[in-house]
Amino acid sequence: MGNGQKLRIGRDPWVGCDQQHLLPAHIIAQLGQNGVFSLCHFAAPVQEVFGFQSWRRASSFGLVGQDEQILDNYSRALERAHIHLNLQEDLLIWDVDPGGSYSPKIGYIKLSVDEGNREEVWWWRKIWKLQCPPKVKLFMWCVLEKKVPTWDFLQKRNFQGPGWCVLCKMSNETCSHLFLNCPYILKVWNECTKLLGVQCRWHG
Ligand SMILES: [Zn+2]
Repeated sequence: MGNGQKLRIGRDPWVGCDQQHLLPAHIIAQLGQNGVFSLCHFAAPVQEVFGFQSWRRASSFGLVGQDEQILDNYSRALERAHIHLNLQEDLLIWDVDPGGSYSPKIGYIKLSVDEGNREEVWWWRKIWKLQCPPKVKLFMWCVLEKKVPTWDFLQKRNFQGPGWCVLCKMSNETCSHLFLNCPYILKVWNECTKLLGVQCRWHG
């Protein structure tokens, strides 16, 4: 976080905050009525004696009871995370990587850990050792984990659409159909196996 001008209070995350950056809509509305929209408006004046910048307390916005507790927890979480305003502009970074930039490899590890707290799966090393661009490896991971946006995947997330396979238009579009069973893709696999001089048999 920099000067806090772009970070909407109660909505936008700050570094290392997990889910603690979220506030209920009615508290955000109450803060808005008090002119607090961004984190820069929520900063308490720098204390002259101690010289550090802290965060405002709920009592200054007329909040009581549970709402007061929720907002004070928010202020304390900011302090615990050592979040302070500075003169730089706010910047969105990928906090999984120490350098703040995204890479497919770190993206994979993060997804893999999130998905089931697995440290590693059997094919991970095999795929990562292949001599091909990282985006290809990441795509292979998506296929194996059934995370490609085929229609069955999209419909579970309330996308509307025909649902049939984009190639043959004869079956529902699932990951296994599109990459293993579709008549069009079977021709591709057949040509590949002929070129490579190997035999493949599909199961299931
Ligand atoms: Zn098909």
